[in-house]
Amino acid sequence: MPTKRTNGKNPLANKPRSGWDMLQGREARIDAYAREYIRFLSEVKTEREAVSFIRDRASRDKNILAIDNRGKALALCRTGSRPLEGGIRIVVAHLDSPRLDLKANPLYEDTELAMLKTHYYGGIKKYQWLARPLAIHGVVVKGDGTMVDIVIGEDEAEPCFTIEDLLPHLAGKAQYGKKIEDAFVAEKLNLICGSRPDLKAKDEKVKGQILTLLNRKYGIVEQDFTSADIEVVPAGRAREVGFDRSLVGAYGQDDRVCSWAAFSALFAARKVPYTTIVLLVDKEEIGSDGNTGAKSIFLEEVLWTLAARLKQDIRPARVLYRSRAISGDANGALDPDYPEVHEKNNAARMGYGVCVTKFTGSRGKAGSSEAHAEYMGWIRNILNRKEIPWQTGELGKVDEGGGGTVAKFLAEYGMDIVDAGPPLLSMHAPFELSSKVDVYATYLAYRAFMEES
Ligand SMILES: [Zn+2]
Repeated sequence: MPTKRTNGKNPLANKPRSGWDMLQGREARIDAYAREYIRFLSEVKTEREAVSFIRDRASRDKNILAIDNRGKALALCRTGSRPLEGGIRIVVAHLDSPRLDLKANPLYEDTELAMLKTHYYGGIKKYQWLARPLAIHGVVVKGDGTMVDIVIGEDEAEPCFTIEDLLPHLAGKAQYGKKIEDAFVAEKLNLICGSRPDLKAKDEKVKGQILTLLNRKYGIVEQDFTSADIEVVPAGRAREVGFDRSLVGAYGQDDRVCSWAAFSALFAARKVPYTTIVLLVDKEEIGSDGNTGAKSIFLEEVLWTLAARLKQDIRPARVLYRSRAISGDANGALDPDYPEVHEKNNAARMGYGVCVTKFTGSRGKAGSSEAHAEYMGWIRNILNRKEIPWQTGELGKVDEGGGGTVAKFLAEYGMDIVDAGPPLLSMHAPFELSSKVDVYATYLAYRAFMEES
């Protein structure tokens, strides 16, 4: 029997629809959501700042319990009507982003310039960090145990910092003649932080002057750098991009885009039948190790705390085994300039909604927890029923590279989990691009997952 066609379209074929098309008439809401998101990205550049921003917002909603893990990871819980033993719903995302961290002994003087040594964090392309304005965000614990917050370089009235690059005239042998990984060397990622000498000093005149300034402004001495978390990040605010303002350009969208979407969905959800946790973790970009990463037992601690509060007697392992989760993380979008790294039938496209990724990993799915067909079916049904723009996508061609998310660490508890987040262009760059409609679709998807009974 021939297939009935409408408008020449075959109803049996899977034809992805643009999010802009599916959400027609809701442009004002998409823009309003993006404005809030842009404000969040502009004010928050580190995991610590994200935790304090979100914790502060959460404190205004009496339905949300926020559990903080060392100021770098956060769990937001909303109680559902069903008992915990029946399983819970979790959206996990990460708050850390690739950056440069200061070393423990960062400050030195060379060629009468004061410099700060860095050690990069996560997957960066080193050359993207040269010759651009950078800001410093972090905390220093002083000798007496008190902590000082440092944020400098964001406000235009403040000074910023930069890493210099070699002029093209002299870059022939040192850079152009080499492979990229040899041309840009981690130990050359040194931040210029001063050049004015202390004319009365005998040696290290510039470094000495910087120490004086630091002591005057923050009350710190050089050894205080050994007990500090100081991150070097791109300076400046997040921006709308394009004549049509359809895109968001900013540092740190991987993965604050999913953190923001998950948090705002938990806030906005009408009701949550199952107790729902938004778990915002640290250290994803370096493998999820450490006591604030997804491999830590923080989630179990959150469950104990919740159960005590709700006066329910639970075994956390059983609750987690019966749970359902979304791992919210950014995906790489089909790149118009490098289509050859993608397989176009299975690459996420900008503007086509939240990207649901069945498996990640590399070299034959290695390192992926892969969602089962049944769970993909359940998720797909929710998204279709609620008419939320969604697509599937793999990170690049088979054997082209790859990457992982925190999904596999939560899957170890036995829960069902799948990756879902928006695609980005320039992922891991100092200025990543997202589509406003994909960011909004991600929020809608998380919210539908939380509200599903
Ligand atoms: Zn990520």
